[in-house]
Amino acid sequence: MRKIKEVIQMNKELDLLIEKCIEYIKASNNIYLASHIQPDGDNIGSLLALGRAIEKLNKNVHIIKVDNIPKDYQFLPNMHLFKELNTEKDIDLFIALDSGDIDRLGIAKDMALKAKKLINIDHHITNENFGDLNIVLPTASATGEIVYRIIKEMDVEMDEDISTCLYVAISTDTGSFMYDSTTKYTHLVAADLLSKDIDLNNIIVNIYQSRTLERTRLFIESLNTLDILKKGKIAIVKVTQDMLKTCRATLEDAEGIVSFIRDIENVEVACILKEVNKEEIKVSLRSKKKVDVSNISLRFNGGGHKRAAGCTIYDNIENAKKLILNEIYNVI
Ligand code: AMP
Ligand code: MN
Ligand code: MN
Repeated sequence: MRKIKEVIQMNKELDLLIEKCIEYIKASNNIYLASHIQPDGDNIGSLLALGRAIEKLNKNVHIIKVDNIPKDYQFLPNMHLFKELNTEKDIDLFIALDSGDIDRLGIAKDMALKAKKLINIDHHITNENFGDLNIVLPTASATGEIVYRIIKEMDVEMDEDISTCLYVAISTDTGSFMYDSTTKYTHLVAADLLSKDIDLNNIIVNIYQSRTLERTRLFIESLNTLDILKKGKIAIVKVTQDMLKTCRATLEDAEGIVSFIRDIENVEVACILKEVNKEEIKVSLRSKKKVDVSNISLRFNGGGHKRAAGCTIYDNIENAKKLILNEIYNVI
């Protein structure tokens, strides 16, 4: 584990930011965190890990539930920390995790703005540095990897609960340690977390091996809309409200379809269009080797990473398909 310590110390600037972050936490009593819209494993895992670590310092911790927590993550420890939005007057400190811009905080945005101090911890290259203190590290595989470094420096034991949440954060955001963002440090951190006797089988079964039948049916329906374009380099599918009704599924159940079509031989860019309503389409993009999809999503005020990004297009699904394909054609 000496190596991890070396990595932490390698970056003096990061050391100082982490020191400052811990200073802010220790000087505060009422500490608020919040999920982002459509929270994922990295967001939820990082929140529960940092939330629990702060709770262990005997602070009042609230994690504001901005959106539904997907069923896959409800087995995680310390879910009691998640609370509905409330109108607390005194927010000493607000910490945003895994949120590239302040609008990602949805209904919690106003709380973040009125807090005495705002810390922004993230790994999105598109991050807008909206905090009083910004710990933004685009080379980190997951926000959970940054939170790991912070907790290591706090006077708090990295217990089984915290380790479980961080493992989930990192495992999900690296596509099970497969994305380019995975480094040897990611594996060193994962090894340290595994040394805390976490129940890996329980994590894997809950996250990767509990697909509902509704979700499975939605996969089938959606794959029936598969369009392969530009000599097999682009794969695109749709999920409409009608399909959700037929399958008794929710939009959350579309998770995983886009990576499935990215994995088709020769596909470079994969795209899924999710119909939130007739004029609002949530787009998810994935790439394999060359294309930086965060640049495409930025054209529609979205964000993300090189290999995984997203945005919302306010138009009907057929127009949204044309608009996004035009942008993909420009870079492929
Ligand atoms: P998704 O396609 O929803 O799984 O998201 C892939 C990546 O893109 C994640 O890192 C998200 O944080 C980011 N992302 C997705 N949608 C948006 C958006 N509307 N604005 C900014 N970033 C987004
Ligand atoms: Mn996220
Ligand atoms: Mn993330």
